[in-house]
Order: sequence, then structure tokens, then C-alpha cells
Amino acid sequence: MRAWVVEHPAPIDDGPLRLVERADPEPGPGQVLVRISCCGVCRTDLHLAEGDLRPKRPRVTVGHEIVGTVEATGPGASRFTAGDRIGVPWLASTDGTCKFCRRGAENLCLNPTFTGWDVDGGYAGACVADERYVYRLPDALDDEHAAPLLCAGIIGYRALKRAEVPPGGRLGIYGFGGSAHITAQVALRQGLRVHVMTRGEGNRKLAAELGADSVGDATAMPPEPLDGAILFAPAGELVPPAMQALDRGGTLAIAGIWLSDIPSLSYADALFTERQVRSVTANTRLDGEEFLALAARLGVRPTTTGYPMDRALDALADLAHGRFSGAAVLHN
Ligand SMILES: [Zn+2]
Ligand SMILES: [Zn+2]
Repeated sequence: MRAWVVEHPAPIDDGPLRLVERADPEPGPGQVLVRISCCGVCRTDLHLAEGDLRPKRPRVTVGHEIVGTVEATGPGASRFTAGDRIGVPWLASTDGTCKFCRRGAENLCLNPTFTGWDVDGGYAGACVADERYVYRLPDALDDEHAAPLLCAGIIGYRALKRAEVPPGGRLGIYGFGGSAHITAQVALRQGLRVHVMTRGEGNRKLAAELGADSVGDATAMPPEPLDGAILFAPAGELVPPAMQALDRGGTLAIAGIWLSDIPSLSYADALFTERQVRSVTANTRLDGEEFLALAARLGVRPTTTGYPMDRALDALADLAHGRFSGAAVLHN
């Protein structure tokens, strides 16, 4: 099979990924071999390609929004049979024994592994995955439209929960890419008022098409105070304006795995009146199962741009330069 590997992390326009020929992986105990149909392109892939996140393994294959079919099962794997359609997400494994796993917070596990960072991911023809960490997918969505749910969707859903907007409340969304445009659909269909602050004409247009109550520039003040907000853009300089847009007691959840430094905050302008800022770190399998069921029930449908797998570098460059709205998906 062919697989993209991170050769030397570097700016994406310098081509840090290389396409190589590799043998199909063998499913080990408890694993399934997945023949990959398509893989979503997540901003984390870009952070790994460019070296914002330190590589955990040389020449890893990135990609953690994998849709494919089970081709073979390893010893002891019995949850799926050959031909089943599954999704392979970011969380590849946890130890199940640390204090965080024991209290049901496996997203904070002390010894986790992640698809496309610790173990080879989906910019390839096939991959293996621990059957306990993969998902069945909603039948209503084809492979291309299901792929972005697996990280962008699940992480956005966890961020929405962390933003703690009450029923019927007002949510601010800062940055409007792959994750935000899915989360906005969930929030709107749950009856929240949604205000989107983003750069990029295409992103603002998509937000308006999806029914956002208002759409403004990245640092604009929303037309009403926010009960909660989610920062999707990896831009720390947006934290102060987002905090100032919160109503008393409001919460800002930062959804990204990487954020540029946050400038100094004025206590009075940004934090007093019991506003709070919090991060979002990975997700539990329960978050994933909840979100996929909710996405199916609410009819969530990502806006996607398809690329052939051999154009992965173009897809990442287009993401870096904001050349598409919604989510990019690579096809085999
Ligand atoms: Zn653990
Ligand atoms: Zn991701």
C-alpha cells in the first residue's frame, strides 16, 4: 500500500510529507485491519507536519478521521466482522488503569496513544486499530461526509459541553473551520442562538448558510453577551476579545490541541464576574458514541471538499492557507 509519512516537520509549502510504499500492517491481538476508503484532514495533521506538535515517532503516517471497512481481525478481536464499515478516531488507546481512566476521564489518561501521532493513521491505503476504540458510523452519511465527524465532530461536541451553554442560550464560535461548522449545526438544532466570529469570506458565508444568528469578523463583538463560547481558531490573541464577549458567569472553552500564546488578560475586563476559561483535551469514547448518535438524530452533515489521497499535501496547504471552507477529505 501507499502511505504518506512525516519525513521532516517543516512549513507545509516545503512539503514535509512523503509518499512511500509500505506492506499492509498486520492486525495484532484485539485489532482490526481497516481498508481505508477516506480520511478527513484535521488541523492537528498540519501541526504534526509543521512541527508545532513534537513527533512521537519518526516517519509516522498522520490522519485520524478514518472511514473504511474491516478486512481482517487479529487474535481475540470479535466485535466486528469482515466488511463492516467503521470509523477510526484520534484516541487510539488508553491504559485503563491510571487515576483518570478509573474515574471515567480517559481523555486525560496518563498513557494514551493517538492515531496518526503514536500509531500510523489514515493517509494510507490501510491501517490497524484496537477494536475497542473504533466506532460504527451513521448509515445516513456516506464515507466522505462521515469522516469529519470522527475528530472535528467529536472534539467540537466535547467543546460544546465544556462551554456549558444553558438550553436556549447564546453560544459564540470563534473560527469557523472543520470542527466549528459541525458544532454550529449541533448547537443550532438544539435551539441555541449561535454567533460566529471568523476571518475569511468563505467561512462567513458558510456560517450564514448554516443559519448562524449573526456572523462577524474574527475579533468583532457579538450583538449580545454570550453564555458560553468556543475558540476553534488556534489563535491565542482571540482569548481576550472572546472573554470580553462573555456574559456574567460565562465560559470560554478552547477546543484546539495547539494554541499560540495568550496575551496578558485584564482581570476586570476578561475574568471578573465569574467568567472562566478552560481547555478541551481529547475525548472519551462515550463522547464519541454520544456525538455520533446525536449527529445522526439531528441530521448533521459536514460541508466537504474531496481530494485524491495522492494530493494530501495540497489538501494540507489549502487548509493552512484557508482555501476551502468546511472540511477536506482524502479519498483512496
Ligand atoms: Zn489512563
Ligand atoms: Zn483531529
